[in-house]
Amino acid sequence: MGKSQVHWMDAHSESTETSLVAKMLTVFDSAGLDKMIKPNDMVAIKIHCGEWNNTAYLRPVYARALADRIKELGGRPFVCDTTTSTYSPWGSRSSELDIMLTAERNGYTSATLGCPFICADGFIGTSDFRVDLPEGYLLKEAYVAQAIAAADAVIALTHFKGHSMGVIGGALKNLGIGAQSKRGKLNVHMGGHPNYGLGSAGAFHPEKFLGKAATPDWEILEDCCPFNLYHINDNDELEWEAEKCATCLGCFGVMGPRGIIDIPAVNFDAVDVAIADACLAVEKIVGRDKVGYINMAIDVSPRCDCANHADMPIVPHLGVFASMDAVAIDMACVDAAKRTPGIAGSAAELMEAHHPGDRKFEAAAATFHGQSEVASINTGHENGLGSRDYELVDVDPADPEKYRFPYDRRPSRQRFGERFERFQPFPYDRHDGRGFDRNDEVDLEAMKKHYEPSTNGHHAEIDEQVLAPADDN
Ligand code: SF4
Repeated sequence: MGKSQVHWMDAHSESTETSLVAKMLTVFDSAGLDKMIKPNDMVAIKIHCGEWNNTAYLRPVYARALADRIKELGGRPFVCDTTTSTYSPWGSRSSELDIMLTAERNGYTSATLGCPFICADGFIGTSDFRVDLPEGYLLKEAYVAQAIAAADAVIALTHFKGHSMGVIGGALKNLGIGAQSKRGKLNVHMGGHPNYGLGSAGAFHPEKFLGKAATPDWEILEDCCPFNLYHINDNDELEWEAEKCATCLGCFGVMGPRGIIDIPAVNFDAVDVAIADACLAVEKIVGRDKVGYINMAIDVSPRCDCANHADMPIVPHLGVFASMDAVAIDMACVDAAKRTPGIAGSAAELMEAHHPGDRKFEAAAATFHGQSEVASINTGHENGLGSRDYELVDVDPADPEKYRFPYDRRPSRQRFGERFERFQPFPYDRHDGRGFDRNDEVDLEAMKKHYEPSTNGHHAEIDEQVLAPADDN
């Protein structure tokens, strides 16, 4: 496979046409994603709606603007996400009921988006379509969420950031996990796998459970597993039916910190590989020329939007990317993060991986030392999904006229002149025509001075002349 094109604009914004929304639409057109939308196409815009109290997920305005653009092209957009695995006992998106409530709280509603927002894999997450994958590197089948499998076209609108399991959370993960049904996610997470699943690769240490009396919250040890695989028997001993483990991750955060289960690093490595196979399954069922990718590499937090919090970004905004190649677009974003200095005080600096050239996601996002930020990318290159070799196309801003408020394009006098005569916001009839009651003159310079905090809690004025650079003349 040759080089793929990745169309890109930086994240600077100082005008109508350089708004990040405008840039997203500009690279969408520039990369040719508009060409794949035909009249009446039902177009899935796959987003991550964010976990409860996550704050780094993409603002809904990006999906709204994209949906409007698809409607302009004659398509019928819908915005979607899928139910998650029960990866936390208290997750907020594990059923359609829950994810709809969380999505609405995070701003993703049919009203805000101007098109339907749906849960693509049904009420519990078993509404899907099985795809054969003989070409998969690890997976030989995948279960794609039904609404995505049935769509005429798919646009993965991705918040590019880090991920504790995937190391990066990019385009590949948006479809390789996010477009799989709950059943499909258990497949990708290696549930039941003889070497890579938690049941086979995890080490169980029941002796770390010291009995109910010594464990005030002992009930969570049984309640964390929705498959009911942990039991405290009549002898006050903890038992685990490992052979039935679906690797939903529900016990990771409960058993792992207590030392009851060693979470196997190999499980994470295998999932990272499987992500690219599952992404390939989406392209196989929808059509290789009917799936496009936009990566918004902004607010690059170390953890995924699946977390119920968001740490400060590890690098500054990297820009807006679009491509028809999921492998190339993620590679371009990883390369951009690698060459960009990390943010002071972020997890990248704490891990001393904030220098240009450092692998920031491996240092700041990965759970285990040795996880690779390019494992999914390399697998996608290997299984024929795409190419890690890419040409970065620097895109110019488009005509600002395209991005003005569309509902009334008349300038201000035409819109407001007559209305201001009837509903006058400026009281010309008061204070000799000056309108409002104010002092004529005050010492503005006095309010512009800087004061330095001192140890006694007071602030002393800074002598600006002392700070001024010496005059060489
Ligand atoms: S034992 Fe397996 S199925 Fe049960 S919560 Fe843990 S990972 Fe999920």
